[in-house]
Amino acid sequence: MTDVIVVGSGIAGLTAALHAAERGCHVTVVTKGALADTNTRWAQGGIAAVTATDDTVASHVADTVTAGVGLNDSAAVQTLVSEGPDRIAELVRRGVAFDRAADGDFARGLEAAHARPRVLHAGGDATGAAIQAALGAAVRSAGIEMREHTTVRDLMVAGGRVVGVEVETDGVRRRLTADAVILATGGAGQLYSHTTNPVSATGDGIAAALRAGAAVADLEFVQFHPTALAIGDTFLVSEAVRGDGATLIDDDGRRFAFDAHPDGELAPRDVVARANARAMAAQGGRPVRLDATGLGAERLARRFPTIDAAVRARGLDWSREPIPVTPAAHYLMGGVVTDLDGRTTVPGLYAVGETARTGVHGANRLASNSLLEGAVFGARAGEAAATDTAWPRVEAPAAIALPLVPAAADAPAFSRARLQELMWRHAGLVRHDAGLRHAVGILAAWVADARPRSAEDAGLLLLSQHVVAAALARTDSIGAHFRSDDGDPAVASLPATEALAC
Ligand SMILES: Cc1cc2nc3c(=O)[nH]c(=O)nc-3n(C[C@H](O)[C@H](O)[C@H](O)COP(=O)(O)OP(=O)(O)OC[C@H]3O[C@@H](n4cnc5c(N)ncnc54)[C@H](O)[C@@H]3O)c2cc1C
Repeated sequence: MTDVIVVGSGIAGLTAALHAAERGCHVTVVTKGALADTNTRWAQGGIAAVTATDDTVASHVADTVTAGVGLNDSAAVQTLVSEGPDRIAELVRRGVAFDRAADGDFARGLEAAHARPRVLHAGGDATGAAIQAALGAAVRSAGIEMREHTTVRDLMVAGGRVVGVEVETDGVRRRLTADAVILATGGAGQLYSHTTNPVSATGDGIAAALRAGAAVADLEFVQFHPTALAIGDTFLVSEAVRGDGATLIDDDGRRFAFDAHPDGELAPRDVVARANARAMAAQGGRPVRLDATGLGAERLARRFPTIDAAVRARGLDWSREPIPVTPAAHYLMGGVVTDLDGRTTVPGLYAVGETARTGVHGANRLASNSLLEGAVFGARAGEAAATDTAWPRVEAPAAIALPLVPAAADAPAFSRARLQELMWRHAGLVRHDAGLRHAVGILAAWVADARPRSAEDAGLLLLSQHVVAAALARTDSIGAHFRSDDGDPAVASLPATEALAC
């Protein structure tokens, strides 16, 4: 029997685990927190797939490639979109109660940059929670071994092959061997001082894969969401709120988004995020405001129950007054290079979901495609891990070497908050050569400092070096990667974390 270890319990990891177990493998899921401590459970907007008779694979493919500015891997996009409907059927079979229209068909939302209404949701804005709950229950009833509150610290490599993981539970380290390891550790929003991601999103899997010699790519492509609540934990306020008519205003009550794009608040995500950043810079770093007062209390509570509760829990009544919002790091398009079955460039090691770079998102992700990615490529990786008898060559884009810049002599002592602030300012929404080189020097100084730091911080530091190197290497602006080498006020004037507690 093949022993498979899946690291992470979001949509990608649990889907992979179920498919490997259904192929007869002994599967162990190892996860850092409780089973439901994932990015998946926070997904609000929904999951995109072709399920309507008047929708087509070609249309969803075209929208995905337009969002990705053509840098997408076309085979990966075709796979994602054409296998999407089967994975939706699987989610329904596993118990996800997607919202339905009066005729019993799926209720389909139309999201920005989708040509057709194809976004399925559950519980209004609680899609991720519904998926997480159904897959969690399925994994438990399948008898898959779950090790919660167990963190993978590193991969075990022998003879050029991954043969297991080193884990830590309650401060105790041990080794778990396996025939195949599937990394499904999600994204790395914690690289930045403002993020919609939970604290667990520290990019551990990508850092471990780098240490094991796996190829990574597209790390310069970080998606920033335009509207996170500018209070404490930067809770995401979905695009759908703007889709329903909420507007963005500055301190003077002016709708500034039309300065950046004719579609105003409904322009592509990265355009609106930069418009917000510039407006904030122009008003001394104070957050801009999302004005949803025109929607009314009843509609806000009915359409957006999760956001409504979160906003009110933070002491705000958004039916009466505009709420403070800021851009925040949201999604990592790049990651560990894989083929269409999740295989990485290191035999025995698979990667899926936000951890992986299949090339499906190109330079920018189409909204609601990431849950689908977890389901489609999770299933494929689970099947491959169960059946692979040989390891084909996995092609990877040319590696980007870390730049040789001397360590900064004036670097402050390392702390995670300082790392996040450095990344926010110099490898965030707007990047330029001087800022990136400054970041390289500071990062080099922190790496050279031999003082002990946590394994998570060491991973964040390693990943930061690779994100900055990739951003430095790509000198043109494309998709989510925006270079402004003439200088842009949006970079320097974004508020420090403390200033967000307005
Ligand atoms: C607020 C928010 C809203 C979103 N809305 C949408 C949406 O509407 N539609 C959409 O398509 N996408 C959305 N996304 C993106 C989407 O939710 C994620 O990209 C997706 O859920 C990632 O799934 P995953 O399985 O790859 O990783 P995750 O769901 O993040 O799971 C990662 C798992 O790995 C575990 N882990 C991490 N490190 C370790 C370690 N060292 N050892 C052991 N376990 C570890 C974590 O604890 C977790 O269990 C949203 C994201 C956020 C943050």
